[in-house]
Amino acid sequence: MSQHLKDRALACLDAQRDHLIRTSATIHANPEIAFQEFKSSALLCDELEHAGFDVTRGIGGLETAFRAEAFGNGDGATVALLAEYDALPELGHACGHNIMGTASLGAALAVKSVLANLPGRVAVIGTPAEEGGGGKVILVARGIFNDVDAAMIVHPSGRNMVARGSLASTRLFLEFSGKASHAAAAPEEGINALEAVILTFNNVNALRLHLRPDARLHGIITNGGTAANIIPDYAAAQFSVRAAKHGYAQQVLRRVIQCAEAGAAATGATLKYSTNPSYADLIPNLTLAQAFAANWETLGVHVIDPRPDDRMGSTDMGNVSHVVPAIHPYIKITNEGIGGHTLEFRAASISPMANDGLILAAKGMAMTTIDLLSDPDLMARVKHEFDETVEKQKIERLGKFE
Ligand SMILES: [Zn+2]
Ligand SMILES: [Zn+2]
Repeated sequence: MSQHLKDRALACLDAQRDHLIRTSATIHANPEIAFQEFKSSALLCDELEHAGFDVTRGIGGLETAFRAEAFGNGDGATVALLAEYDALPELGHACGHNIMGTASLGAALAVKSVLANLPGRVAVIGTPAEEGGGGKVILVARGIFNDVDAAMIVHPSGRNMVARGSLASTRLFLEFSGKASHAAAAPEEGINALEAVILTFNNVNALRLHLRPDARLHGIITNGGTAANIIPDYAAAQFSVRAAKHGYAQQVLRRVIQCAEAGAAATGATLKYSTNPSYADLIPNLTLAQAFAANWETLGVHVIDPRPDDRMGSTDMGNVSHVVPAIHPYIKITNEGIGGHTLEFRAASISPMANDGLILAAKGMAMTTIDLLSDPDLMARVKHEFDETVEKQKIERLGKFE
């Protein structure tokens, strides 16, 4: 039964192809940054409403988040297709999130076309601010995923991968306050906030020598004073702190804060710090990944296993994967050498290859959603694996993983 439904869903996507490509191009041409995605989220909501979904605009206290639902013919699982549609400051859609939002829209339309023959429901959850702000972290905390059984989203890339994880990550914001004075006539009366920043960087570089190889620490100075002849009374910096696992990333974060406290102590400046919502490491559900990869293989998408030495970024999908079984596959839209967050990747995100990738991403999600809704045994195995991995992760959170 399910192959017949998949064939119909695929035909629906082929019929919608030009329309979806136009939607992706419209989002690409109107880049909106974290929590400002008004046009992009409205466009996706309009499309879903038009297709007969029940749409709630603005969920979890986030204006540009949304949830759209369609119901099958009885009780069953709830599968969530997540949509990202935020752009990067200055760079626009250089991470290709125009494809991500549109692919989940397409998958939802395709599943809807056969949903009368399936139990359960499909939900599109619009999640803003992946690139900073952590929309999904907030939506998880506000219970938006409490009734979801499995979740997925596909990211554009230079390679096709399904079971790939991501690093845990936190952004740390540091502000030092000192005392201004004439840098030549009265330096002894000043408290140099910039020196506190510089010491922090030196301390962090010393710390780096003693971290596990998966840790990643990088910082920038966002305020270094106003003129060379004034002792800076204010200076600011931000660091990105990452590691393979959430537990260790939190330990490293505490050490970096100590580096800043030491810089403040040495100079007499006072330190204020804050963090953004932490992105947890992504734990891909391998049972779900296997089902997804098998579907992609039937479409001729050759899936590459992530290499153990793979370089990775971070995503707030990690937090979703800690509360429900989840995957975050990657679809090839460009040559392997072209990385995200570049002008080249922005151009690639509306190329013919990206448009093919968009449809393949939508097809993979639609087929796998049909599998999950039509096969309670698969859903049970996905959940069983999740219970096992979540238990393990809980041990790590308690710091017992050393
Ligand atoms: Zn990105
Ligand atoms: Zn991205």
